[in-house]
Amino acid sequence: MGFDTMTDDERWDAVCARDKAFDGRFMTGVLTTGIYCRPSCAARHPLRDNVRFFADGAAARATGLRPCKRCLPDDVARDEGAVIKAIAAIKGSEEPLALADLAARTGYSPTHFQRVFSRHTGLSPAAYARALREERARTALSGGGRVTDAIYDAGFSGPSRFYENMEGRMGMTASAWVNGGKGATIHWAVVPTSLGDMLVAATDKGVCRLSFAEGREALEERFPAAELIEGGEEFAALLKQVVVAVEAPVNGFDHIPLDVKGTAFQEAVWRELRKIPAGETRSYADIAAAVGKPKAVRAAGSANGANNVAVLIPCHRVVRSDGTLGGYAYGLPIKEELLKRESF
Ligand SMILES: [Zn+2]
Repeated sequence: MGFDTMTDDERWDAVCARDKAFDGRFMTGVLTTGIYCRPSCAARHPLRDNVRFFADGAAARATGLRPCKRCLPDDVARDEGAVIKAIAAIKGSEEPLALADLAARTGYSPTHFQRVFSRHTGLSPAAYARALREERARTALSGGGRVTDAIYDAGFSGPSRFYENMEGRMGMTASAWVNGGKGATIHWAVVPTSLGDMLVAATDKGVCRLSFAEGREALEERFPAAELIEGGEEFAALLKQVVVAVEAPVNGFDHIPLDVKGTAFQEAVWRELRKIPAGETRSYADIAAAVGKPKAVRAAGSANGANNVAVLIPCHRVVRSDGTLGGYAYGLPIKEELLKRESF
């Protein structure tokens, strides 16, 4: 958690997406206007060159910047404190707590508190309490740790991102995801292909990682708590399908099950990528528009890059608007070769 865990590019993506989940994690300072904002500020975005990021309001003020009157960035901490306090109260109570009771503990009016809480968690206090009870029931069943406690530990600014991730998630349980694959068994292999050494890894639900020039260490980094098993009989059958699909993409990839996870936005982008027919390409702007966020072109690019399952989620079919190839996590020669063999 904290300022150091994000890159400036990630911060800028959060600003471009006006992602409320990043409020409180950093401040956006604008040198030309002399103000600083929370990442989700609704004001028009400044030019990237004029932006500097700060850990908090104090750091921004130390350089002479003033808080934005529109997004009131310094209230983030107070709001967050109120939400954390309320969550602690909800967690500590066996009985559902009345809104007025919760609000009184935070010093906000019930209406204002309800708004602040919903903005942070994506849920009303009552719905949050309900979700918490359901989560506890599930956790009790699986015997794992408390996911709700792990939310902050995992570096999220609040529960909203957690619930955002629950939505439309394919595969892994929330516990497995938060805890680096805890409880999941992942079979894997590195196989030689015409594109070089290809790493394929899968849970019992589907392929969770496909990459090039990677081995066990990279997998351990991604799923530090999962049980990693090289090979395996059932996995071998899936692996064969994957290799055939990659080498001869004529039949498409839809028949291969995937087990991936991301934010709701990332998963929306990945679903869109799966819709691009072989032999065709899209621009980052096309993808952003297709997921209903035409302005989030950079964020769409980041989601594209965050794809864990190369080829099968065909991020290689996204190119620059001017027709040039753009980037590729495994190098442009592989992207070029994939597009070439898909043009049948
Ligand atoms: Zn602002």
